Amino acid sequence: VKCVGVLALQGAFLEHVQHLERCVLEKEYDLKVITVKTPEELSRCDALIIPGGESTAMSLIAQRTGMFPHLRKFVHDPTKATWGTCAGLIYISKELANEKELVQPLELLQVRVRRNAFGRQAQSFIQSCNFSQFIPGCHDFPAVFIRAPVIEKILDEEAVKPLFTLDDGFIVAAAQGNNILATSFHPELAENDSRFHDWFLQQFVLKQ
Ligand code: GLN
Repeated sequence: VKCVGVLALQGAFLEHVQHLERCVLEKEYDLKVITVKTPEELSRCDALIIPGGESTAMSLIAQRTGMFPHLRKFVHDPTKATWGTCAGLIYISKELANEKELVQPLELLQVRVRRNAFGRQAQSFIQSCNFSQFIPGCHDFPAVFIRAPVIEKILDEEAVKPLFTLDDGFIVAAAQGNNILATSFHPELAENDSRFHDWFLQQFVLKQ
């Protein structure tokens, strides 16, 4: 049985767990879902979701608890799947455009990411997005952007495929190879809509 972990150092990890458990229940997937705080828990996982929250806090906690080298090793293992949402996207990126000294990223996703690209908390928004190009039939996903980052530059055009770009040209969803996914927004905060999680499980976890 494959195991999907949600990094639980900080942020919206419980929301991810709820969506994943709902998918497992409804689709009867042969999957286990756990929260991950320790190297031992991480070692049981085939895939890891890094949630939204605050990348500076997540980075600090990972350093202090000694999780950083374990996380780094896990996400760089090509047999493992990784999905970062919002702060999670920042945390897995190769390069930060701003406030570099506040986050020690996992340097996995070959992009340069800009934190808080839409401004402060008050500029947060929900946008209905048409993801049907990559998620069959998903024409109207409620994407929640909260002090969201954007992918400002793809550093390796061969490795990273942009999946969704906003009208102003910012990339807000991208994949690298067949095992790495990143989103600027929070599918875990879409109420009663687990389509994004289901797609992740099908394409990135169950297929491998
Ligand atoms: N602005 C946050 C950061 O830089 C991310 C916000 C979020 O995850 N909602 O980490």
